[in-house]
Amino acid sequence: LQVPNQPDIPYITGDGVGIDISPAMIKVVDTAVAKAYGSEKKIAWKELAAGEKAYAAQGDYLPQETVTALTENLVAIKGPLMTPIGEGFRSLNVTLRQQFDLFANVRPITYFKGVASPVKRPENVEMTIFRENTEDIYAGIEFESESPDAERLIKLLKTEFGIDNIRFEQTSAIGIKPVSPDGSKRLVRAAFDHAIAHGLNRVTLVHKGNIMKFTEGGFKKWGYEVADEYPTFTVNTFNKLKAESGLDAALAAKATALAAGKIYVDDAIADNFLQQILINPSAYQVVATLNLNGDYISDALAAQVGGIGISPGANINFLTGHAIFEATHGTAPDIAGLGLANPASLILSSVMMLEFMGWLEASNLVRDALAKTIAQGQTTRDLGGKLTTADFTAAIITNF
Ligand code: NAD
Repeated sequence: LQVPNQPDIPYITGDGVGIDISPAMIKVVDTAVAKAYGSEKKIAWKELAAGEKAYAAQGDYLPQETVTALTENLVAIKGPLMTPIGEGFRSLNVTLRQQFDLFANVRPITYFKGVASPVKRPENVEMTIFRENTEDIYAGIEFESESPDAERLIKLLKTEFGIDNIRFEQTSAIGIKPVSPDGSKRLVRAAFDHAIAHGLNRVTLVHKGNIMKFTEGGFKKWGYEVADEYPTFTVNTFNKLKAESGLDAALAAKATALAAGKIYVDDAIADNFLQQILINPSAYQVVATLNLNGDYISDALAAQVGGIGISPGANINFLTGHAIFEATHGTAPDIAGLGLANPASLILSSVMMLEFMGWLEASNLVRDALAKTIAQGQTTRDLGGKLTTADFTAAIITNF
């Protein structure tokens, strides 16, 4: 990504705690950039209207100027947006992902020393989840059984496809799960590119291909096809060698491949994977998976390292370079505007953003200072501390 020294970066403050955490994030990033590059680099922040504030001012949750600005600028960052409740509203987050075809939801999971965790060794949890963001049952193609569309669909399934093992007359709704080779492959490629860029040697494809053979099973199949495009040693090669020449020979070949810098690729069935991340998390580094599995897995892993309050995320189209970095938590209406929210999730999302821009000195400064601050026991209330958003932000800046 070619980034000028004074890039325009659009940001959406966000609803609820957005007004607490977005200014905190901007302050931390600006201070880190000035510290890392002096006057050579500086971000020109451009606030964009979206969410409740935009609706109150303009009667539109996602005004056209916001979409235009996001189209013109590849990189943007956002606070949480409230999903309006009522007929016909789609989540603004989903709308943005679809509008810019942000096909990868990237969720790095890292433990910060000092954070309370429900597991014994949270420091063993260090992985990045690549969740497909545009397809799957999550695409929201659903029909209510009373609707004419559902009736047509059910009739088609019964008469044309001869499906007779479902009690359609009692089915209250029906959903469709689209999964494409291209959609799966571009996501898996992003996971491999990440592994290579970060010197990681294991990529795991997580799926439910045992039950959903063509959608989830397709994802697995296409994932292994992508593995062949990269310097990899797959579990399939391992098993073949084991059958032909024995376990020792297979283990030796795997060790040689890894020593030569190849990536070990395997797959796991999603339910088993959710057990494995509790039993043996250190085995996993990069995970590629479909939309719904990725949703569950990301939040389950975030809980292991201390909750979504400190978990960052990004929605990226690695082909166009379009990327929206975001806090992964919601608008936290219970503490909104009180100056108590933890800005760590959004600040860590800005770390991902700075890294994506290639501004590594600044991203390292922010990540290290945030880790140091938490390790010192200086935290907001959600992490058991007493600091306000402003005091926590000041403590991070002191630690630069
Ligand atoms: P939430 O994440 O807003 O809140 C859950 C709990 O976590 C609350 O007790 C809240 O106080 C706490 N919490 C969340 N973020 C925190 C922070 N930064 N610091 C300290 N505590 C924090 O989830 P919810 O209540 O289910 O959702 C509220 C609204 O947010 C809904 O409208 C939902 O649609 C929306 N939402 C938006 C996003 C997004 O924009 N990416 C994600 C999830 C939910």
